[in-house]
Amino acid sequence: MRCAILRPMAPLLPQVLRMLFTGRRRRFAFTHQEVPLPPRPDDLNLYIHLPFCRHLCPFCPYVKQAFDRDTADAYRDALLRELDTWRHAWGPVPVASVYFGGGTPSMTPDIIEAVMSRLRCDLRPGAEVGVEAHPLDARPDVLRSLRACGVTMLSLGVQTFSDRLLRMLGRDYDSRRAREACESVLEAGFDGMDIDLIFAIPGQSVGEAMADVAAAIATGAGQVSAYPLIQFSDTPLAAHLKSAEARLPSRRTEQRMLQAVVQQARKAGYERSSIWSFNRPGAPRYTTVTRDAFVGIGAGASSRMGDWFWLNTFSAPEYIRVAGNGDPPALATRLDEGARMAYWLFWRCYDTVIDTVRFRTLFGRGLPGAIRATLALLQLTGLARIDGETIRLTDTGAYLFHLVEQAYTHAYLEKLWAACRREAWPGAVEL
Ligand code: SF4
Repeated sequence: MRCAILRPMAPLLPQVLRMLFTGRRRRFAFTHQEVPLPPRPDDLNLYIHLPFCRHLCPFCPYVKQAFDRDTADAYRDALLRELDTWRHAWGPVPVASVYFGGGTPSMTPDIIEAVMSRLRCDLRPGAEVGVEAHPLDARPDVLRSLRACGVTMLSLGVQTFSDRLLRMLGRDYDSRRAREACESVLEAGFDGMDIDLIFAIPGQSVGEAMADVAAAIATGAGQVSAYPLIQFSDTPLAAHLKSAEARLPSRRTEQRMLQAVVQQARKAGYERSSIWSFNRPGAPRYTTVTRDAFVGIGAGASSRMGDWFWLNTFSAPEYIRVAGNGDPPALATRLDEGARMAYWLFWRCYDTVIDTVRFRTLFGRGLPGAIRATLALLQLTGLARIDGETIRLTDTGAYLFHLVEQAYTHAYLEKLWAACRREAWPGAVEL
């Protein structure tokens, strides 16, 4: 009942939450501008973007392009130049985590090796090193090379174990290969393994979504993540769905799928670690840009440091041309305190847990009155539980945030990314 009330509100939520948390109606303004060097962090979290793919999937909104060796070599050199710029600007900073996303990072293990060899002396003991891997790359030679250069976790992009739905998504392998890939990664002995699934695929039933989660759990992976298919309007899939019989499942069906996924994961002993991820107790969590602060390296990579959020150019040739030469990023925006709090709280709601002690450490004060009042309302309506210093979203609260996350993607990310795809240097974007 509460969910039926929440669903129609979803498109309004990003604006309502922005006003509530940042106290402003003004739009977020991104411009091509110089970002002053943020204060040297105690620990550095890095995200490295590798945009190359062997096959371009029709639903994919990410920064990617077809692989070619010469471009990949030039791109590797550009990454190292950008990395060195940061290392020289701050001096040695211990690196706590490095995540390689894409694109298909696992198809260029040589680039991962080059980056890791550059970072070797900076890595903190126990640093997390994660790589997104494609099922076709889960071969002994690739996995050995990733292990040898210090990779600790793999996130395998299976998406679904159904052959019919793999075809619908335009993926270039079958369910048998997906299962073999899971086995190979597990045997390779990484500290952590995540299996990424997609649900709410056109034509998918609730039973098929449950079967995917059951199959992922059966592999023994420490983490299973199930993301809803969020349709970006400028993808080939969106164009296809306009003319085809297949439709995205209704909001009601999508909700039933998410409920079924949560129940299935819990029954198998997994704990919810975000609105869309589940971990076995004690299994390391694979997570990239949800951190308090991180630097993104590579084409299309975003960074969140100090008072700033910025994006590199989405164009690989332009990135190769400018990396390391001190030019401003493609777009940047300065975040005032309210926006920084909103950003932090957004990702903690994504985690389904808000630690108010951490908030005080980061911002030097307790939660502002408007946020406390909102959380009290969430508790009153059964969407959150306040337990001392910790606030947890209930399953209904997590469903609300599942709607918020999708509305936020359409209200902000889709527009920002579309502008950055249209032009390498968009100049200014207002959201
Ligand atoms: S979904 Fe992954 S493999 Fe497919 S095009 Fe996007 S980044 Fe490449």
